Amino acid sequence: MGLEMNKEELEKIKQKALEDHIPIIMDDTLEVIEKELKENPPKRILEIGAAVGYSAMCFSEFLADGGKIDTIERDEERYLEAIKNIKNFGLENRITLIFNDAFNVQIDKKFDLIFFDAAKAQNIHFFTYFEKNLEKHGTIITDNIFFHGYTYMDPEKIESRNVRGIARKIRDYVSFLEENDSYETVIKKIGDGIAVTRRK
Ligand code: SAM
Repeated sequence: MGLEMNKEELEKIKQKALEDHIPIIMDDTLEVIEKELKENPPKRILEIGAAVGYSAMCFSEFLADGGKIDTIERDEERYLEAIKNIKNFGLENRITLIFNDAFNVQIDKKFDLIFFDAAKAQNIHFFTYFEKNLEKHGTIITDNIFFHGYTYMDPEKIESRNVRGIARKIRDYVSFLEENDSYETVIKKIGDGIAVTRRK
């Protein structure tokens, strides 16, 4: 779409998020997703987990003409910061922020791409909840499949019970995707690992 986004300003948003310990998309993950978007510019993207709006702002450059992004965030402080960032970039007409827990959001629209980047242990639930919103030949991308290496680490070597639980739920999610005959899933070893799941 050729939006001339101010890269320096975008970099500042990224750096501030990193300083504030807000997890945002990794550069190499972003690169791979942007490549996907360039090859097949989506009309509509749904993102679960907006944080301060960084990934949505990056994706917005690659929408098809008139394309739009809906993105959901449940943390008020992050949501307000995302609103501010999106307004500063004049992207309000392309990006709609929804302040709510994703499971309370009722959307009827269909999306070409759905990006799961929220609570990692909830991915199976996100999938079953938002599957109805995926276009016929749509794609779901899920970030943090490797969970900093814990997903496929020997569970006995993981001290934290909480981390062990999340790792197990991510493994369950990958099996759930791979066993689903209606979709084809590829796990890409970039960034923290992404699952690219296309409806057959
Ligand atoms: N996509 C963002 C980016 O790359 O710029 C980063 C998102 S961050 C990894 C995950 C966000 O998901 C957090 O800000 C968290 O508050 C939000 N989140 C987690 N579970 C959620 C839920 N059930 N509904 C809405 N937001 C959720």
